[in-house]
Amino acid sequence: MNARFSNPQTQQWQAMSRDHHLAPFSDYQQLSDAGPRIIVRGDGVYVWDSEGNQILDGMAGLWCAAIGYGRHELADAASAQMKELPFYNTFFMTAHPPVLELARTLAEIAPAGLNQVFFTGSGSEGNDTMLRMVRHYWAIKGQPEKKVIIGRVNGYHGSTLAGASLGGMRGMHDQGGLIPDIVHIPQPYWYGEGGDMSPDAFGIWAAEQLEQKILEIGVDKVAAFIAEPIQGAGGVIIPPESYWPKVREILARYDILFVADEVICGFGRTGEWFGSDYYGNSPDLMTIAKGLTSGYIPMGGLLVSDKVAAVLKQGGDFNHGFTYSGHPVAAAVALENIRILREEEIIERVREQTGPYLQQRLRELLDHPLVGEVRGLGMLGAIELVKDKASRGRYVGKGAGMICRGHCFNNGLVMRAVGDTMIIAPPLVISEVEIDELVSKARLCLDLTLQDLQG
Ligand SMILES: *Cc1c(COP(=O)(O)O)cnc(C)c1O
Repeated sequence: MNARFSNPQTQQWQAMSRDHHLAPFSDYQQLSDAGPRIIVRGDGVYVWDSEGNQILDGMAGLWCAAIGYGRHELADAASAQMKELPFYNTFFMTAHPPVLELARTLAEIAPAGLNQVFFTGSGSEGNDTMLRMVRHYWAIKGQPEKKVIIGRVNGYHGSTLAGASLGGMRGMHDQGGLIPDIVHIPQPYWYGEGGDMSPDAFGIWAAEQLEQKILEIGVDKVAAFIAEPIQGAGGVIIPPESYWPKVREILARYDILFVADEVICGFGRTGEWFGSDYYGNSPDLMTIAKGLTSGYIPMGGLLVSDKVAAVLKQGGDFNHGFTYSGHPVAAAVALENIRILREEEIIERVREQTGPYLQQRLRELLDHPLVGEVRGLGMLGAIELVKDKASRGRYVGKGAGMICRGHCFNNGLVMRAVGDTMIIAPPLVISEVEIDELVSKARLCLDLTLQDLQG
């Protein structure tokens, strides 16, 4: 049992974990040996562990808790809906008020032209739905051979078979098999892969890989291109400014569908309702989850454009759906979450005040010897840990990111490590004082990490 955890209750929970719990994305031997940290409570931007430590949650759970923890209005909305109608399906010509109100509300806030919603239980299910719907769409149009979907290396689209196949994570592709007819192009990760090119030249190059791939496969075989506006799990990769305009230009040239995976960027993370709004993109389909309910209850969905919906209406039955598609309790919670985001003008505050403040304070860390780049937008940030700033050389084989993540947790801050990139995505409601705390804790942990790396 890990010495960091001394409370007997913690040790009981860790034993339960060791004996019975297979957690997501974990090394089970390591998890058994070290034991998980047990999180017992949350309020605002903070969580508390079973040892009584207060921790500033720089990852909003897992990109979820947009409105922060402890908003009882969401619990009350769930409770009221559970008493009224805890469950009914939306299959076979039925519906219920919460799912319809939520569909209409999403059409109000979504980019123009996205007016229809297919609900799911998660982001992965949203992308599974997308894959089946897009291929169905082309079949209805008499082009069933248009079924290849182009994703990006190091993109993340979830963990179901379709999600893992659409995503570009090598470690996931190596386990459990893949769905055919999904291909990947390079990511627009300038700091990691741009070499001597300027960011803008690299952005153009990365966008041109899309056109090359379309031509290589043949436009008569390509169904869709899927991308996150900003890659989240891949390491908060902000594409160079030249990237999205060039991608838009290429997409306009060829008859393929554009899918924005907004599971992280959606619901205010960039300071706009959707990442597509920030970049001026007009996707045909948009996957949502996470911030939709602030993670208080599972729910995802796929927003569908009028253009796609009109074709689907000519296609007879769409033989697809989940028992919990549009679950009434989840829909009631999502509606309450969106009401709070709107009425408290949380996204406006991210755009105009706290987002710029976070970005300015984070960039002060650039003077630290370990920091090669700081990038971010709104309530997203990334810090690149390097050994040599000029060459962007890393501490090879040292696990600098994991060392830093450990120091953060032990000093009351959650930052996630993606390789040697530290990433943050705090609740959107974080205040300026709390941002100060986040940045000063981050600096302390960078110091401790540097000591370990040099020691
Ligand atoms: C988290 C995530 C998903 C998967 O959502 P789940 O609810 O975990 O299935 C898909 N796409 C992106 C961009 C994500 O960050």
